[in-house]
Amino acid sequence: MAAEPVSFLVAACTCGCRSVVIEATPQPQNPKLVGHQGLVGGIDLSVKARGKDAVISVLLHFAEGSLSLLKIVWCNFPDPVPSTWVEINRRVSVES
Ligand SMILES: [Zn+2]
Repeated sequence: MAAEPVSFLVAACTCGCRSVVIEATPQPQNPKLVGHQGLVGGIDLSVKARGKDAVISVLLHFAEGSLSLLKIVWCNFPDPVPSTWVEINRRVSVES
């Protein structure tokens, strides 16, 4: 039985934002998207963190037909991204 393609995280941003780079797979996960890069989709979370209202966005990117980057955007950067929060609301978007 052939092994399923598995993605590994190969690098984490050192600025404290918790974004991570996803290792390229030997074969593109979506051959139709070779030669392209862009956004797969994202989630905007409205949260309560450290007693304050805040927004955390998680954006999944692809490059050359495979997942490439999980980007975390924290509204209170350069404060470190909190490790816990209470979710108030979320908005999910998927690129078509
Ligand atoms: Zn960063």
